[in-house]
Amino acid sequence: MIQTSISEDGGKIIPEAMVLANKEAHLSALNRLQMSTDFAAARAELVEYLSHDINDRRVLEAIKCIPREKFVSSAYQYAAYEDRPLPIDKGQTISQPLIVAIMSAALELDGSEKVLEVGTGSGYQAAILAKLAWRVVTVERHQVLVDKAKQVLAKLGYTNIEIHLAEKTLGWPQQAPYEAIIVTAAAPQVSQVLIDQLADGGRLVIPVGSRYEQDLLKAIKQGDKITTHNLGPCRFVPLIGNAAWGKEEDE
Ligand code: SAH
Repeated sequence: MIQTSISEDGGKIIPEAMVLANKEAHLSALNRLQMSTDFAAARAELVEYLSHDINDRRVLEAIKCIPREKFVSSAYQYAAYEDRPLPIDKGQTISQPLIVAIMSAALELDGSEKVLEVGTGSGYQAAILAKLAWRVVTVERHQVLVDKAKQVLAKLGYTNIEIHLAEKTLGWPQQAPYEAIIVTAAAPQVSQVLIDQLADGGRLVIPVGSRYEQDLLKAIKQGDKITTHNLGPCRFVPLIGNAAWGKEEDE
């Protein structure tokens, strides 16, 4: 039986179920507001923490305005502003915020660049780059991750990010050259295929080493010369395919 109650506006009789539904909608709107305020506070705290190691203000600003919780499943949202990687689909990970910040700063972006990212994953790093550069082209080898990243980035209103399913050739030579290239998966070496996609004066940031441990390298291309700097140890999921590792262990 539907119970009824008297509404306050004009004495119309409306079903109790509707009153409850309205009340719940109101409460969940309040919860959402509370959650987004908490996320914003947590995000500001994370940025404050990162600012001890990162002095690129544009990078810190980008992190401050991008909702990392939207790039992970609801089960991990509580940890979205801890400085650690988190699982995403297909056994992959969204990188640790400090690593995202270090890599983004190393690309030395001023807003005019076309940037290539290899390894879209959740799309979070692409969102950061989209705030720092002119355009972002990002490639990912798992269709489900391409689809999810497209969805979240469209919802957040990005119009300067192109996402492609990776093809046989590493990177995306169709749109080369790029002023900056970021590889967010571990490579066995600095691949010539990527150097070829880099503009003169361009920066390539890439983790290089074994499948399980790497050094974060920054390679700068000047004419035929490549200068490489080691930014320190890191650990990424493997880059798979041509000029990289064989298939993943569970494939
Ligand atoms: N930048 C991501 C984290 C990516 S994890 C983020 O912000 O969430 C690394 C990603 O690289 C994984 O999603 C993996 O599927 C992808 N990947 C591995 N090899 C690749 C290749 N050859 N081309 C494109 N993507 C690749």
